[in-house]
Amino acid sequence: MRILKIQTLRGPNYWSIRRHKLIVMRLDLEELAEKPSNEISGFYEGLVEALPSLESHLCSPGCHGGFLMRVREGTMMGHIIEHVALELQELAGMPAGFGRTRETGTPGVYQVVFEYQEEQAGRYAARAAVRLCQSIVNKGYYLRQELEQDIEDLSELQRDAALGPSTDAIVQEAEARGMPWMSLGTRFLIQLGYGVHQKRIQATMTAQTGILGVELACDKEGTKRILADAGVPVPRGTVINYFDELETAIADVGGYPIVIKPLDGNHGRGITIDIRNWEEAEAAYDAAREVSRSIIVERYYTGRDHRVLVVDGKVVAVAERIPAHVVGDGASTIEELIKQTNRDPNRGEGHDNVLTRIELDRTSYQLLERQGYTVDTVLPKDEICYLRATANLSTGGIAVDRTDDIHPENVWLAQRVAKVIGLDIAGIDIVTEDITRPLREVDGVIVEVNAAPGFRMHVSPSRGIPRNVAGAVLDMLFPPEKPSRIPILAVTGTNGKTTTTRLLAHIFKQTGQVIGYTTTDGTYIGDYLVEPGDNTGPQSAQLILQDPTVEVAVLESARGGILRSGLAFDASNVGVVLNVAADHLGIGDIDTIDQMAHLKSVVAEAVLPNGYAVLNADDVRVAAMRDRVKSQVAFFTMSPDNELVKQHTQQGGLAAVYENGYLSILKGDWTLRIEQAVNVPLTMAGKAPFMIANALAASLAAFVQGVSIEQIRAGLTTFKASVNQTPGRMNLFNLGRYHALIDYAHNPHSYEALGGFIRNWTGERIGVVGGPGDRRDEDFITLGKLSAGIFDRIIIKEDDDTRGRSRGSAAELILKGIMQVKPDCPYESILDETTAINKGLDSASDGSLVVILPESVTRAISLIEARRPVGDDIQQP
Ligand code: ATP
Ligand code: ATP
Ligand code: MG
Ligand code: MG
Repeated sequence: MRILKIQTLRGPNYWSIRRHKLIVMRLDLEELAEKPSNEISGFYEGLVEALPSLESHLCSPGCHGGFLMRVREGTMMGHIIEHVALELQELAGMPAGFGRTRETGTPGVYQVVFEYQEEQAGRYAARAAVRLCQSIVNKGYYLRQELEQDIEDLSELQRDAALGPSTDAIVQEAEARGMPWMSLGTRFLIQLGYGVHQKRIQATMTAQTGILGVELACDKEGTKRILADAGVPVPRGTVINYFDELETAIADVGGYPIVIKPLDGNHGRGITIDIRNWEEAEAAYDAAREVSRSIIVERYYTGRDHRVLVVDGKVVAVAERIPAHVVGDGASTIEELIKQTNRDPNRGEGHDNVLTRIELDRTSYQLLERQGYTVDTVLPKDEICYLRATANLSTGGIAVDRTDDIHPENVWLAQRVAKVIGLDIAGIDIVTEDITRPLREVDGVIVEVNAAPGFRMHVSPSRGIPRNVAGAVLDMLFPPEKPSRIPILAVTGTNGKTTTTRLLAHIFKQTGQVIGYTTTDGTYIGDYLVEPGDNTGPQSAQLILQDPTVEVAVLESARGGILRSGLAFDASNVGVVLNVAADHLGIGDIDTIDQMAHLKSVVAEAVLPNGYAVLNADDVRVAAMRDRVKSQVAFFTMSPDNELVKQHTQQGGLAAVYENGYLSILKGDWTLRIEQAVNVPLTMAGKAPFMIANALAASLAAFVQGVSIEQIRAGLTTFKASVNQTPGRMNLFNLGRYHALIDYAHNPHSYEALGGFIRNWTGERIGVVGGPGDRRDEDFITLGKLSAGIFDRIIIKEDDDTRGRSRGSAAELILKGIMQVKPDCPYESILDETTAINKGLDSASDGSLVVILPESVTRAISLIEARRPVGDDIQQP
């Protein structure tokens, strides 16, 4: 077997609209192409031995053991690899359920598709699955050690990719609300929502978190000062910079017991609490000094440690934090008990997991000593031995939810404190004997206020109810009336995407909003080009969706990008499908027109339920997409008699139609006329039917998004496909006596569409035609045939670069096509493109149209400009 390609999909795609995270592996089965699993001796047994858990895969039989039944009876290796890749991820703690395996047009080559949770792990699983199966085929087994290594590697890839627990909680909540999010790839920044409506977070800080509040909270002494001035109970204490000052400071705070901590520390580092004598104070001073220059000396308050989380001015959760400890069983030593506790799979390193492993430090031994223990003491049954003085989760503490217990006065106080410090999300640390009573009554204090407080103690407390604190954050960032999305309008089709995208963006500009759009020519925001180039893939779309100024996104969504990585967005508001024709077939395992239609229908199917799929009713394959979509449908048609559209509008549906020379919207029984085609420059004075179709599609897409008829009209009448903006796309030149047109029509469908325009020309129609040498023979013959039906006179030319063909052979094939249709057609064969174009222009009769399909658009344009065109409009009698 040989892996030919592994692709990672990240959005709605050819295989699934709903499952965005898919690996697509192109796999050549080679020697196994003709061998189903039942014909490989020992394969079934080897597979069951290596991965007994495959028993749980139902597969097509739909029952437990269903998949293994298929393996025993005989199934192709691609299919088995799909299941193995899923199972490997499952074993590594990343369950994924979706898979598909399909034959391609190339014998023995399969596409194996399966879901992933983490990209890198998914790609790894693809390779590992092939390795595993190949080993069983060759040797009858896959070594246990190798499997264990695979699973370990997969878990590591998962850990590497994992978001922090607080970020993860917020992202999960966003997903549950159907809100889009993306990682910005630096500084752990996460974007929630799109475009102008986006909000960024970084762990539990938001774009709204004030820098002054954060800096104040990070300054423990400053915080205490501000809080004390506001009448909030805080520990009595002082700050010192030199060891000399320690003794006086202790006296100042009222003597032992005291707490010594670094002025700017966190996660409990360098803190010693409950210091009872000078010796301990000295050691504590040194420990704090390692973290910070200045040192806080405070009175020690006895009590339990609480974290109160305030979001947007409201207390949303309260946790009591209990320092790391073990509970005796009457038989084990303290050391053994610690080991047992740390074996809990919920305990990890640092903040990775729900809890952190217990490690002993300097204060731990002091604590043990005070309790009269050593690590070798056998702890009596049910007796608690504390191992750390502070309750931070990061030093092995646990959290107990106390949200329902906090006294209302303490709620009021915490909420006020968050405001006083100036934080939208604040973690307030309270030490009190009893959180159910007001702080004042029990001599409780607020020891500090944390910016960017961790969420894990609230989201997954060791005891008590988990609290959806991420929900409160999202409620704050996106209040009910505030959207998180911007309208996304995606445009696809074989021909006319760029034209329609540009026109649609232009129409939307009439509303005064900032439009971001991507096309084959470049990425634009407002009136400016951001990046030139073919930008119809997901990266350019991301650029638009990440831009904080963009209010509406119009995205040309070409076949290549959808195939390579899926759509760049989870769902759109409008999906326009213009047409589906034979072009690009045979690339990326899309071999038939119907497969192409299926691929393009992704754009229609990924529309939000309350959005619209804008479909071409005159194209059967596009019209048929109405049955696949979950959204509403609006049709456009060139014919007022289109039966489908009639039915649709009779049932109250929306449509755009070309009727009596007008571009109109049909809404139920009403006809809303937008504009006469002759007044829409893009339609070449109404002579280019395919441009009318593009204009109908754009108008309809804008209309369903609430753009007014007046604004659509203003857009249609002021839009021009200029030579500068879209060179090679229907560039018309008025040369006074005659006209010339340069177009890049590159497939029979667009060629025919172009013919629709040329046939409407009343003067002589002269074609200067040819095509790239790498086209198939029959494509040249078709080109000839179509040309014969369009032009009165034809000049056949060839490209400078014949792409491997012998000079003159393409011209011969074109001629063959012409002769099949119109044997008496006047023609000339001039192989050199420049000579051919000049000949065509020189010989143009009055009122004629010279149509040039050039190899080099720029050269053709300069040849025409040398003849000083008087304009780009049509002046035909
Ligand atoms: P974190 O960043 O995890 O909040 P930190 O390093 O910022 O920790 P503090 O919050 O100041 O440190 O203190 C850590 C813990 O030590 C407190 O939550 C509290 O349990 C205890 N503590 C601190 N100061 C006092 C005090 N004056 N009296 C009693 N306990 C205290
Ligand atoms: P590409 O795949 O190269 O990006 P595109 O789909 O973006 O192409 P445009 O650039 O808008 O298409 O138009 C390319 C050519 O296709 C035009 O010059 C014209 O010849 C033809 N064309 C445009 N619209 C249509 C249409 N609706 N139907 C058929 N042909 C069209
Ligand atoms: Mg703290
Ligand atoms: Mg394009």
